[in-house]
Amino acid sequence: MHRIYRIILLGAPGAGKGTQAEKLSKKFNIPKISTGDSLRAEVAAGSDLGKEVKEIMNRGQLVPDDIILKLIRNRLKKPDCQRGYLLDGFPRTLQQAEAIEEEGIGIDFVIEINISDAEIIKRLSGRRVHPASGRIYHAIFNPPKVNNQDDETGEPLIQREDDKEETVRKRLEVYHQETEPLIQWYQNLARQKSSPQFVQVSGLGSVESICDEVIKAIQS
Ligand code: AMP
Repeated sequence: MHRIYRIILLGAPGAGKGTQAEKLSKKFNIPKISTGDSLRAEVAAGSDLGKEVKEIMNRGQLVPDDIILKLIRNRLKKPDCQRGYLLDGFPRTLQQAEAIEEEGIGIDFVIEINISDAEIIKRLSGRRVHPASGRIYHAIFNPPKVNNQDDETGEPLIQREDDKEETVRKRLEVYHQETEPLIQWYQNLARQKSSPQFVQVSGLGSVESICDEVIKAIQS
């Protein structure tokens, strides 16, 4: 029987959540749900929601919880989520974590990818994305086959507005203040209940080795 995996990926911006989420979603055949990608799609489409969040995102701040929770509730209702899901970049505040716990949104594993601020600043400056698919590359750590081109479509890669250094510093500050407390919160929850299980992996190392470590922890 195929197991259902409902996973949260926690970690600072630039820890490698998006890259790992992509690999894990293929491995377990579950949708990768990235609130950041969904919001960026709204901004690109110029929707009312996009207009509301654009400046907040460009400043590296968090979008209000009610907007994010509405987005997540709608997404999790879709049929592809019945096989499980991988949440990338959600929850990011205690209020968001408490809301999904209270609403009984099932989570089996919380995986924290741990990495220092200095390493993150080094990494994000080299990060490039393919806007249409959300595929992520890095000039040194995960280069595309052809410089500055998406592997699958050959389209150009871009640097996200919020990957610029000043914004990265702001996002790290917001992470430490708003999101890092979730690590303790989920560790406590794991002591009280059998699920979700909390797993911490180091974000240093190759994309493959980190992914293997996560898979091993989940399947053990
Ligand atoms: P990400 O691609 O996950 O780093 O998200 C990019 C930006 O989208 C963040 O810096 C926030 O402004 C916003 N965002 C994404 N997910 C959330 C969330 N769960 N709560 C609040 N804001 C979010």
